[in-house]
Amino acid sequence: MGFMNLFKHVLGDDWGVHPDDHKRPAADRPVRVMPVPARLYLPLQQHLGGPARPVVLVGQSVKKGELIAEAQGAVSAPIHAPTSGTIAAVTEITAPHPSGLTLQAIILEADGLDEWQELSGCDDPFALDPAEIGKRVAAAGVVGLGGAAFPSAVKLTGASRSKVTTLVMNGGECEPYLSCDDRQMRDSAAGIVDGIRIMLHATGAKVALVGIEDNKPEAIAAMQAAAAGVANVEIRPVPARYPMGSEKQLIQVLTGKEVPADGRAFDIGVVVHNVGTALAVRAAIREGKPLISRVVTVNGNCAANPGNIEVRVGTLAEEVIAFAGGLKGDGLGLARRVMGGPMMGMQIPHWRVPVVKGSSGILAFDAAEVAEQEPNPCIRCGSCVKACPMGLLPLEMSARIRNEAYDDAIGLGLKDCIACGCCAYVCPSKIPLVQFFVHAKGELAAQDRAKLRNDATKKLALQRQDRLAREAREKAEAAAKRKAEREAAAVAKAAATAAAGQGEVV
Ligand code: SF4
Ligand code: SF4
Repeated sequence: MGFMNLFKHVLGDDWGVHPDDHKRPAADRPVRVMPVPARLYLPLQQHLGGPARPVVLVGQSVKKGELIAEAQGAVSAPIHAPTSGTIAAVTEITAPHPSGLTLQAIILEADGLDEWQELSGCDDPFALDPAEIGKRVAAAGVVGLGGAAFPSAVKLTGASRSKVTTLVMNGGECEPYLSCDDRQMRDSAAGIVDGIRIMLHATGAKVALVGIEDNKPEAIAAMQAAAAGVANVEIRPVPARYPMGSEKQLIQVLTGKEVPADGRAFDIGVVVHNVGTALAVRAAIREGKPLISRVVTVNGNCAANPGNIEVRVGTLAEEVIAFAGGLKGDGLGLARRVMGGPMMGMQIPHWRVPVVKGSSGILAFDAAEVAEQEPNPCIRCGSCVKACPMGLLPLEMSARIRNEAYDDAIGLGLKDCIACGCCAYVCPSKIPLVQFFVHAKGELAAQDRAKLRNDATKKLALQRQDRLAREAREKAEAAAKRKAEREAAAVAKAAATAAAGQGEVV
């Protein structure tokens, strides 16, 4: 991605960059609730981890909230019907991904009744065993709503096992243009604080620190009011600086602790969740509701009426845009379509891709917002090094990657790169540094997958060899046994014959 002119200036004294946030007026407008569309398109892979497996048949009727695809494996999440209706197909659709590749999805035709299945909530979540909360959150298909879409229950139960002490709640929403978290903190602060208390109970953490960037004064005020008198939930304004919302940065700013390179937040007693996720956890536990909708920011110069829209998961982006007010000039000035934020989101090939659980934004950019220039040679100014929030050497890493020296790039910290894009944005030579890192990570992931496949093939071949050897051995043993039995029978027969001969009267 490259939105070179989002930034008016760079904070020179520290990591990160300070973009114009482009959050208003969308952030200041009330959330609009979009009616259920006629069809919903539900990819089986909406989360990090294994794709869900369909448990419905074409033609089957389902209620709103009914399980339609179950989780597969330790890291996965189930998918539920966002409305009542009929399963129209299980087929391939365009994924919300720049490749435009297809994904398996369940298509649900709405019946217009929007009828819930029977729900079973819990009035007193604090009486539940923490492990039970994890189970219910997993069953509700809750994933991180900040964009990463990591299954939330895995983090809750992992935190409990790792005995974390601090729950860091990410209300930073540092990506420009996005304001869905801001809006939810303003509108549903009490629900978020309740969700945070449930998450504290589930994780065993002693305190929750809620980091909110100081460019969201209304959200800070609402959350402070909701948390007043709640001893273990602290609202902490943090400076607006991109990428403040990345896990390692937020932990460091709020706790002063540093996540070790190659380490995890658990290792220092911390777990991080998004504020929107707290609302989903609350709905799952108190009301028994699975995650079937989310708030999405529609924004960008081409959006006729920017704002935040509550939509059912599976709604096509084109329908969300139409509901939000369409595109200016019928989209003639449209230069780029993005799902998620402008920094870490994804460019998409057309609008006929569905909103998934992790979709925080639908952005329609004009040429002025995506102005790109031909890259020039590196002038070794060091700006990228200064901006990198992970303390990496982007210019050195990109040079190694250009030469396909991936191991050297890993040695320089490639695996710590969070693909935030700060380096590329500040580069005066307009070198698309982050694209090198994303490409290299993709290559390494492909190599890892190929290695896993090879290892699996080798294992299968060895297993086959072992099986054939065992079968041959068993066959030989059986033949030997039969032979021995035959010989024993012959000896016995001869002995019987001899005995009979001795007894004969001559
Ligand atoms: S090297 Fe990675 S982490 Fe550092 S600024 Fe660039 S994209 Fe961000
Ligand atoms: S910011 Fe760009 S020009 Fe400056 S050192 Fe980094 S790669 Fe080179």
